[in-house]
Formats: sequence, structure tokens, C-alpha cells
Amino acid sequence: MGFFKEEIAIDLGTANTLIIHKDKVVVNSPSVVAINVLTKKIIAVGSQAIQWQGRTHENIRVCRPLQDGVIADFMASEHLIKNLIKKIPALQGRIFSPSLKMVICIPSGITEVEKRAVKESAERVNAKEVHLIYEPMAAAIGMKLDITQPKGRMIVDIGGGTTEIAVISLFGIVAGRSLKVAGNTFTADILNYVSTVKGLSIGEITAERIKIEVGSVLDDLKDPPEPLKVRGKDNSTGKPKEIDISHKEVAKALSTSVSRIEQAVMQILAKTPPELSGDILDAGIHMAGGGSLLRGLAERIQLKTGMRVTVGEDPLYAVVNGTGEALNNIDYYRPILL
Ligand code: ADP
Ligand code: MG
Repeated sequence: MGFFKEEIAIDLGTANTLIIHKDKVVVNSPSVVAINVLTKKIIAVGSQAIQWQGRTHENIRVCRPLQDGVIADFMASEHLIKNLIKKIPALQGRIFSPSLKMVICIPSGITEVEKRAVKESAERVNAKEVHLIYEPMAAAIGMKLDITQPKGRMIVDIGGGTTEIAVISLFGIVAGRSLKVAGNTFTADILNYVSTVKGLSIGEITAERIKIEVGSVLDDLKDPPEPLKVRGKDNSTGKPKEIDISHKEVAKALSTSVSRIEQAVMQILAKTPPELSGDILDAGIHMAGGGSLLRGLAERIQLKTGMRVTVGEDPLYAVVNGTGEALNNIDYYRPILL
């Protein structure tokens, strides 16, 4: 009767939601929904919804339900989860929706009420067994760090809405913080810089492109990217205009936000029990999340902390891989599942 139990792992990120089914990433989609405010109907989810961003009329609202690591919009977040599960190729075209067993990774700053909302949303898509896992834990597992030992491991996961900093030992987060300075902040910094310093209004999509193509937090890079041509609207004349933007300008734009991340890392190091500090000195700091791809960021944190900083192999996949690993070994990881 289509009553097969399927197992899925979901990384419900502030910027991107990824789903693993049968050990493969089968969904990788922006965590975005577009809603018609008049009919309250969802008109698009994921990359389709992103295309509406900055190009909609007032009846369409494009929203990121998990924006700052908290659930800003419960209905939108449920639609996001539901619609993305429906996109799993192997589950499409089934007459009966199968009962699901899932592990969902959530930002560590979310409240009890929000956790329950995520669970209930999952149950409404026929999940019979739902486990939640905190993002830094999943990132650590995804980076193949052994979190079962009494050894300190430090994770800095820079996503879209939040930077999750945690020191993990023996299945637990010993010291941690979820900071609302992350990829979205960097994009907003660039947008403001280009407007105030270069006199050009640009959209969020353009600002994000600048960040990815010429983004840097250091002036001196070993392999600096060529300046990028960007288009927008001249602030004084209102006419369309094209300008060049260099990685050094981006470094200037991002400097305050990066300092805030550095300070938060230092603060967590200060809170770490001394025995574990020694372990971190040995193993270094492990970075994950899309923000860790920013040129020079690992180097800056290394300079600030004096610790070796490594960026995981697939920083955008570390969390979903760790969530998938937890799904495959539920009993082993039970102490950290919520
Ligand atoms: P989340 O877990 O919060 O969904 P992700 O780990 O998926 O976030 O990272 C998304 C963020 O990483 C976005 O802000 C995106 O702009 C940023 N990002 C992705 N690739 C790069 C890159 N190459 N350089 C800088 N930032 C990047
Ligand atoms: Mg993430």
C-alpha cells in the first residue's frame, strides 16, 4: 500500500536546504518561498522563488522562512519542507506518500516552540519518526571529526543567516554561540558599500554575485580575482550604469562584519575549558558553510586566534553529510539527537 518507510536527512539551512535520500544528495535548493499575499498561496519554492526576488510586484512576497536562524514564518517553513520533500525524485509519482523516517538539522539558536513546529511540519508530510540535530554537531560529523571522544573540537559554520560557533566534546556542545552575522550580512555590507561609496544602487542578487566572484576579506591575496563589472542604477541621475569593483573594495566593505565573527570566535575560545583548549591547539579550528569559501577568511581567523584553521572539503555539504551519517546510525548518535 505504498507503506514503505523511506529514510531522509534534511539540512534545513537559512540559505539552502539539502536532502539526502539513500546516501545521495537529491535536493539542493535555496530556502526560499514566494507567496501571493492576496490569496496566501505559495507560488514557487526554491530556485524558482529566488527568481522572483527583487523583481516582483507588491502582491508577491519572497521570503526566507529561516532568515536569521529562527523561524520567521511558520507557514512558509512548512511549505518549504513539504515542497522540497516532494522534489525527491524517488518519491515522485507514488500514489501513496510513504511513511518517512527523518533526521532534520536545525540552527542551534531556535526555540522549543520552533523545534516543535519543525517536527509537526515533518509529521504532516507523513513522517513517523523525526529526530532533530543541531547544526554544529552535524557539521562536525560531516567533517568526520570524532565527537564521541573527550577531545575538544571547534567548529565555525558560516551559513547565510547565522554563524554557528561551537566547541564539541563527548557528544555535547561545551561552549557555543549562534551569531546573526553571516553570508547575508556580507551581501548586505556589499550592497551598502556600493551604494554609499560608489553611488550605485544594486540588487541583492548582484551583491551576492560580487561576494562570490570577487569576495575577499584580505587586501593581499595569493591569487586575486580580476575586478568585476557590475550594473545598477546611478544614485544621482537614476540612470542605469556599469562600474568595476575589486576584491580590495569588498574587503573594505566586509571588514566590520568579519571583525564581529572574529570576536565571537575569541569569546568562545575564552569560554572553553583549558583541557579542551589544548586539544583545539592541536587539531585547529574547522570551518564549514558557504561563508567559509570567502577568500582570505580562514587566514584572517587564523591570524586572529593563532590557531590553524582548515576549511572542510565540501563546506556547503558538511552539514547535510553529517545529518545523513546520523540518519544511518541513529542508535550510535542518539545522545545528540533531539
Ligand atoms: P545555510 O546553512 O545557512 O543555509 P550555507 O552553508 O548553505 O548556509 O551557505 C550559504 C551562504 O554562503 C550564502 O550567504 C552564500 O552567499 C554564501 N556563499 C556560497 N558560496 C560562496 C562563496 N564562494 N564565497 C562566499 N560566500 C559564499
Ligand atoms: Mg548550514
